[in-house]
Amino acid sequence: MAKRLKLLFAAPFIGALGSGAAGGVELTLRNIAQALRNRGHDIAIAAPQGSVVESFQVIEVAGNPQISAQTCDRRDPIILPKGSGLARLWETIRAIQTEYDLILNFAYDWLPLYLTPFLQRPVAHLISMGSLTDAMDEAIAAVIRQFPGTIGMHTISQAQTFPFSEACVILGNGFDLSQYEFCETPTPQLAWVARIAPEKGLEDAVAAAQQTGIPLKIMGAMENPEYWQKILQTYPHAPIEYAGFLSTQALQSQLRQCRALLMTPRWVEAFGNVAIEALACGVPVIGYRRGGIAEIVADGKTGFLVEPDSVSGLVEAIAKLDQINRQDCYKAAQTKYSLEALGDRYEQWFSSF
Ligand code: UDP
Repeated sequence: MAKRLKLLFAAPFIGALGSGAAGGVELTLRNIAQALRNRGHDIAIAAPQGSVVESFQVIEVAGNPQISAQTCDRRDPIILPKGSGLARLWETIRAIQTEYDLILNFAYDWLPLYLTPFLQRPVAHLISMGSLTDAMDEAIAAVIRQFPGTIGMHTISQAQTFPFSEACVILGNGFDLSQYEFCETPTPQLAWVARIAPEKGLEDAVAAAQQTGIPLKIMGAMENPEYWQKILQTYPHAPIEYAGFLSTQALQSQLRQCRALLMTPRWVEAFGNVAIEALACGVPVIGYRRGGIAEIVADGKTGFLVEPDSVSGLVEAIAKLDQINRQDCYKAAQTKYSLEALGDRYEQWFSSF
């Protein structure tokens, strides 16, 4: 791109970036920032106080967090807490916007969508989850009508959960693959990597570990401790180990030693960052044929796609893992999910603003 852009990234206001509270969008934000900086663009990130995005300028904003949209019911109204951090973040953005060419919003929230026509600078919105509430669907649709081409999504499956899927720009995702190390010879264990939350379906992976007797290493932020306790009570003898929320470096060093990553979401996963992180280490993915996972995993080549919610399907797939060549997994990540390819897509998207 000829023009060097000054970009202002607007983070979600769920928790500090780096804490894992906001899920995959934290790594996604970092990767997009890196991909665009590699091409000479300038990036500043407005984010909750305490956020750390290594080597990037972070404009920290204090305030109370939003409630995660995935805990809402379809008909729920829009809720903003007292002392809303999200509101303060967008007040900050309004004050400094003219220093930037474009604002890229990462929050799955009504407020930034609603504010879009009131700002002087264009806003691109990256929507990081599928359709969850009617109020959010309506807010996104309103932006599409007024500013066509400004709503980005990760996968076709994600876009199709909304009534306006054709109007969305599909951007996939990309990763700094140099951060992940290939491992040819795994130890006999399986991995499960996600926020500990009901929409991630951890209990199915634990049930599969119990049935196969293969140890399961669990990594991710503890979002819902009651849910975790319930799983421990239901499967007291399952061979599981919880390693906590790890840095990308520590995560990949554990993940790469595993025979496979199990992905067992109950919801339509918008993308599923952890699938690519596994493939980048040569680790096959066994996942439910649902949402982004079905667009990422080549069944029988880089893992197995299993009937959603079927523990016996997981167990059968685990038994076939010897059929997968770990080099094929590694190559799939390199060919499709590099930062270079991601940077291309975002530059192209921004050139239409
Ligand atoms: N993750 C991490 N450390 C952990 C477990 C997970 O950094 O111990 C990150 C992982 O790199 C990924 C994110 O958490 O970027 C999970 O994202 P995903 O898209 O799979 O699911 P989401 O939480 O967005 O629903």
